[in-house]
Amino acid sequence: MDFRDTPEEAAFRQEVREFLRMELPEQARGLGLAEGPGVWRSRFEALAEWRKRLAEKGWIAPAWPKEYGGASLSVMQQFIMNEEFAEARAIPVGGMGVAMVGPTLIIHGTEEQKREHLGRILSGEAQWCQGFSEPGSGSDLASLQTRAVRDGDDYVVNGQKTWTSLAQLAHWIFFLARTDPDAPKHKGISYFLADMKSPGISIRPLVNMGGQAGFSEVFFDNVRVPARNLVGEEHRGWYIGTTTLDFERSSIGSAVGLRLQVEDLIRFAREHTEDHLSVIDRHPTVRYQLADRMVEVHVARNLSYRVISMQAKGMVPNYESSMAKLYASELTQRIAGTALKVTGLYGQLRSGSGWAPGRGRYGAAYIQTVASTIAGGTSEIQRNSIAQRGLGLPRD
Ligand SMILES: Cc1cc2nc3c(=O)[nH]c(=O)nc-3n(C[C@H](O)[C@H](O)[C@H](O)COP(=O)(O)OP(=O)(O)OC[C@H]3O[C@@H](n4cnc5c(N)ncnc54)[C@H](O)[C@@H]3O)c2cc1C
Repeated sequence: MDFRDTPEEAAFRQEVREFLRMELPEQARGLGLAEGPGVWRSRFEALAEWRKRLAEKGWIAPAWPKEYGGASLSVMQQFIMNEEFAEARAIPVGGMGVAMVGPTLIIHGTEEQKREHLGRILSGEAQWCQGFSEPGSGSDLASLQTRAVRDGDDYVVNGQKTWTSLAQLAHWIFFLARTDPDAPKHKGISYFLADMKSPGISIRPLVNMGGQAGFSEVFFDNVRVPARNLVGEEHRGWYIGTTTLDFERSSIGSAVGLRLQVEDLIRFAREHTEDHLSVIDRHPTVRYQLADRMVEVHVARNLSYRVISMQAKGMVPNYESSMAKLYASELTQRIAGTALKVTGLYGQLRSGSGWAPGRGRYGAAYIQTVASTIAGGTSEIQRNSIAQRGLGLPRD
């Protein structure tokens, strides 16, 4: 791969930088480590303004075709945009609607479904959540047990989803349910859309060990979902679900965000030797850790460049995406671990304590990043894929 931008790519990068310089509200810049759903709530107005400016430019859903309100950007342009947005610490506003269900509807949805949902996803009127995982089905998703039974013009849905991110804030849910219990497990699943206000849907927030309720359990109790909300063919939902998962995984972040975290940490270490909030002058091994993290950030960057250069050539990355996901998610945890080393015992203090370095963000990040090697496919599942598809090892 050529690491330099072509003249067209360089011009596009300049356009994105200029746009960010002029239009990104200060309050729509992220904090780096440990920002969660709380950031969204506390900066609602700035983010609404940011969304409006992006929409005017057609950049809410840059990957969508222009005819559906996107910008028809090429894979490389999307990647450049991701890099520049990360560099400017711009908080993304699209959510699962833009990244997952929108592109799935563009491929598999009916005209009516596209008309009903795509515009409201772009305007931010409709927030979406993903109801795939169940208490007994995560890595082995095809074993899911939520049932949908056809009854007249509706399907009647019963079952439970779990780990449903931002379900409390979502207006709609896209989910998988079993429509043919007698078929082989991948072949009896269908893909549905449901209004979260439908009678029979209830939510129980799950509080993680960092004290945040970012995800929920979602219960379906005789929920009537109109048959027009079935996406694609009945019983073929597994294959439509994999389209959604491909979009989830292909939205590969740039490693820029990771580099900024390490740079922030280096700056913190330098600036706080006098007040002892940093231990860098007393524990020289922490310096080596910082150097290692910086090297690793560059490795993560090269792994993501490999994936993106394959996509740009029209190839479908497979174990290469697993390598990038595995490495970046584990690196996120190592960076959070190094942050606690840099900040010493103070680093564990929560926000609220006047002594908490970075207003408590380092301790919070250490806890929150635990989820990064579980969400979006666990490290073991990524390693299985690398072993089987990359190294050609046998399944068992
Ligand atoms: C922060 C967060 C947000 C999430 N948001 C959503 C969401 O919005 N919507 C949604 O549907 N889901 C969501 N999930 C769920 C996520 O997709 C699952 O947690 C994940 O797929 C793992 O499934 P599981 O939790 O059931 O664990 P399991 O699959 O039960 O795995 C348990 C352990 O066994 C290991 N394991 C399982 N199978 C194998 C195997 N074949 N070989 C080796 N080891 C194996 C796993 O690696 C893991 O360590 C979220 C999860 C997290 C942490």
